[in-house]
Amino acid sequence: MKKVKIKEKELVELEEYSPSEPSDHEVRLKVAYCGICGSDVHAYFNEHPFISLPIVPGHECSATVEKLGGKVSGLKVGQKVTFIPQLTCGKCYNCRNGRYNICENLKVIGAQVDGAMTELFNVDSKLVVPLPDDFDLMDAALIEPLAVAIHAVKVTGSLFGENVLILGAGTIGLLLAQVSKFVGASSVMITDVFNSRLKLAKQLGADFAINSREFNLTKNYLRETFGEREAGVIFEAVGIEATIKQAVELVRKGGRITVVGVFGKETKVNAGLIQDREINIRGSLMYLKEDFEDAVELIRKGKVHVKPFITHIFELKDASKAFETAAKEKEKALKVLIKIS
Ligand SMILES: [Zn+2]
Ligand SMILES: [Zn+2]
Repeated sequence: MKKVKIKEKELVELEEYSPSEPSDHEVRLKVAYCGICGSDVHAYFNEHPFISLPIVPGHECSATVEKLGGKVSGLKVGQKVTFIPQLTCGKCYNCRNGRYNICENLKVIGAQVDGAMTELFNVDSKLVVPLPDDFDLMDAALIEPLAVAIHAVKVTGSLFGENVLILGAGTIGLLLAQVSKFVGASSVMITDVFNSRLKLAKQLGADFAINSREFNLTKNYLRETFGEREAGVIFEAVGIEATIKQAVELVRKGGRITVVGVFGKETKVNAGLIQDREINIRGSLMYLKEDFEDAVELIRKGKVHVKPFITHIFELKDASKAFETAAKEKEKALKVLIKIS
């Protein structure tokens, strides 16, 4: 059997391994597709603050159940599934209060422990999310990022009738645009530096798509476009100082900002504006199980489209090329999948 390993900076190799038996509470998955995420790309460049190399990546995956551990019930061999890549302690304050996504002892599969870019992968059955039989396993690799967007929208509160501005049209930004529309946002504007992504944003239902390299978004422009409600909600989905600053400057007085982007560096924001304008700013990390289940439903019912995100599919043997493409061809590559089996 083979698994993908990021061995060191910009070095991805396939390694032989012999799969272990699932323990009593685990299932062994035959992995179908794994997506390469922004955090995997950070790891590839060895610049992720919480990932050390070497690591087997893989947290956005679809699979079928290959073997059940002795005490597993409710799942069957051959069933299509995805899994939630969160290892939580179940004991800390947040775990006991239902916010296990921010567990004090959180470990993420594919980040702090080896992930699922392997032909056979054992995972705790509690983390397995069953899929309908007719669910497309390629689409299923996008359930995890969609759950990120769904969680971010839920923690932000009602978007009904709001004008929503999304900074960053990567996978998460584009999913946020679709989810915002689904929950009743009146207008969605999205910004990015790549026209290819902005074009896709429009196809997926964004009302305005703006190239932030070519056009400097101002509060006046937002007022002219949206009226007095301006942009009441802003999602920061890039993770750099320029966009978090922009969010604080552009949001309506009393508005809400949710930070979804992953920041590699400490950044400055104008705290004076946060106070003076009563800006509500909060973070969003990963998701809860119900966000995964909602993601399955939104894709199944055609409310969110994920197929257009998939720009590249590589065979397992070309994993190195897949990482290179995801890391170095940002303009063309949106979601790069590896077909594991
Ligand atoms: Zn991810
Ligand atoms: Zn915990």
